[in-house]
Amino acid sequence: MMQSLLVAPGVNDRTVLPFKLEDKDALMRSIVDGGARSAFFVLDLGRVVELHRRWQRALPGVRPFYAVKCNTDPGLLGALAALGAGFDCASRREMEAVLALGADPGTCIVYANPCKPEAHVRYAAQAGVNLTTYDSEFEVDLGIKYGARADEVVPLLRAAQHAGLNVAGVSFHVGYGGPRTDVYEAAIQAARAAFDAAAALGMPPMRLLDIGGGFAATAALFDEATAVIRAALARHFGDLLPRVEVIGEPGRYFAETPFTLAARVIGKRVRGEAREYWIDDGIYGSLNTVVTDGYVPRPRALAAASVPGEETYASTVFGPTCDSLDTVVTGYQLPEMSIGDWLLFDDMGAYTTACASNFNGFSAASDINTFLAYST
Ligand SMILES: *Cc1c(COP(=O)(O)O)cnc(C)c1O
Repeated sequence: MMQSLLVAPGVNDRTVLPFKLEDKDALMRSIVDGGARSAFFVLDLGRVVELHRRWQRALPGVRPFYAVKCNTDPGLLGALAALGAGFDCASRREMEAVLALGADPGTCIVYANPCKPEAHVRYAAQAGVNLTTYDSEFEVDLGIKYGARADEVVPLLRAAQHAGLNVAGVSFHVGYGGPRTDVYEAAIQAARAAFDAAAALGMPPMRLLDIGGGFAATAALFDEATAVIRAALARHFGDLLPRVEVIGEPGRYFAETPFTLAARVIGKRVRGEAREYWIDDGIYGSLNTVVTDGYVPRPRALAAASVPGEETYASTVFGPTCDSLDTVVTGYQLPEMSIGDWLLFDDMGAYTTACASNFNGFSAASDINTFLAYST
């Protein structure tokens, strides 16, 4: 598997650093020793492979269409394409990013956006992207924008029928609510009702069920959600599978855990026992996810030589901008650090660089290097 990833577009022109999973900090240290002077990411492609395996085991036959908006790193996109994933794209730029890696527009892209600018629709059509789904609690794809409540399904199907449009199937996205796994059962049941409504109207059989995203990478939550989905698919679609193709649109599931952020200490203040540090990434950069996506930062110092039992101090860590909101952690126990030292943040791939701003002249999305690595 590693070999096919190494030659994938998005990966093949970059160095991939092999490492043992338990030696991640040593890998981070070697990048620092190799001359890193500002914040950087490491993307572990081995972790992406592992997540893909886990997806296939938990949802056999359900092809993941990775939600590109979550993290657009070309290494991640290229690796997922090599693994056989498709892509959920919401804009022209996202379709371009995926097509640039050689993805087949006809089979690898769902253009999933509830509100499409005309120029983007034209681009999609001209590029050969022929499947579009929509982002709301429960929607039916009629080729143009229609969000559907359950009582609107039949009128919408009729409208499509009259317009001669091809209704490919049903798509829903439950959003990210953590452990609300029961919502999948209700959504899949409602989707089946739409399939039956179409059949009752004498429409050609629908062939696609898109179960959306919102999957957590946390093993317990993922296992719980996928168990609910497997049961609901068997209960409500057992007679239609495998003629009906089931796809999903995971974003954070694939992007969150493979990325580790290293941020550099660029400022320090000592007030009695308290320690205050400034680092070169923050709430307006990749760590916006603390505010926007509920990420709980648990940084650890990348020590030159970590001393067991070392004294720690209640520390505040600020981001680099001049806004006092730009505070990453407060009262957090850290060993004494100096300017030039590093803090590591795990699981930093979901809605991080993708949502970063360049407020105050700091640009996380374009200024932060990503190193590719492969854990074994
Ligand atoms: C954002 C989005 C996803 C991905 O959501 P995650 O919580 O990252 O899995 C999937 N489908 C649609 C329609 C989305 O808008």
